[in-house]
Amino acid sequence: MKALSLFSGGLDSMLAIKIMVAAGIDVLAIHFVTPFARFSACDEAALIEKVKERLGVPLKVIHLGDEFLEIIRNPKFGYGKNLNPCIDCKILMFSRAKALLEGEGASFVVSGEVVGQRPKSQFRETLRQIEKQAGLEDLILRPLCATALPPTIHEMKGWVKKESLYGINGRGRKAQLALAKTFCLTEYSQPGGGCLLTVSSFCTRIEDLLKHQELTCENVPLLHLGRHFRLNPDFKLVVGKDATQNEKILALAKPEDVILEPKDLPGPTALGRGRLDEETKKIAAQIVARYTVTDSSLVAVTVKYAHQTEEIICPALEEPALKSFMR
Ligand code: SF4
Repeated sequence: MKALSLFSGGLDSMLAIKIMVAAGIDVLAIHFVTPFARFSACDEAALIEKVKERLGVPLKVIHLGDEFLEIIRNPKFGYGKNLNPCIDCKILMFSRAKALLEGEGASFVVSGEVVGQRPKSQFRETLRQIEKQAGLEDLILRPLCATALPPTIHEMKGWVKKESLYGINGRGRKAQLALAKTFCLTEYSQPGGGCLLTVSSFCTRIEDLLKHQELTCENVPLLHLGRHFRLNPDFKLVVGKDATQNEKILALAKPEDVILEPKDLPGPTALGRGRLDEETKKIAAQIVARYTVTDSSLVAVTVKYAHQTEEIICPALEEPALKSFMR
């Protein structure tokens, strides 16, 4: 019997896999990467290796793109404390897992959720609602809390013995930590720690994109970098904080973007995206001057378009104005 087990990287999802493996189930772990995950795509191979080594199962990584942005734009079940649309997110992940069942030769989906553990998205009725919306009624097994819930088809059909399952519920972590010891799991991330949608400072940037109808797959990678300034309703400036960020920002530039940098001085690379009028250009150059390392009161800033470059000599933008544009 084979199952697909959702793997977030947190302890509960690891325990769910361990319990299933111990119960004799063939497990394929599925890791969904949202555009707001903390770990980057280059860690993917290492993650697959780590899961194989620590949990003894293969891992499939699935990237969610515009379909995920759509649930942030229009969450059917609303947001959590910040811009985290957890219920819609879970429905999306379970729906994608359901679509994989047949092709992977799997019969059900496993999740490390614990009833009552988190507000809203892990209430008993919400768990049922998520199953229903994902078209997985009775096809999700939550081994950590299964015996605290009505028996599912897996137990009823004898695919998984009741004795292999647990009845953890509520917000405490003691039972999971004890179980981690039993399974010799020592390294794991904190619950919810990998999702930037739970970080209010990061959500300010998303709110700005939402407000200006700019929440797109092309704009999201820039959210992870630099300082952000909204200079007019149609123009944003992203300013690198160090050499690594400058390089990354440059790599994300599209032909229609504008790049601003101090001429012959150490300082930031700034990427401007949107409609650039003369006033906006002047302010953008002054922001770059503000972060340029110099004793001079005037800075020469180069403004590069796809086919031309110009130079603006300007003073640094003063702090109150700078703050008014910052997002
Ligand atoms: S915290 Fe983020 S990844 Fe986790 S369920 Fe909520 S929206 Fe999805």
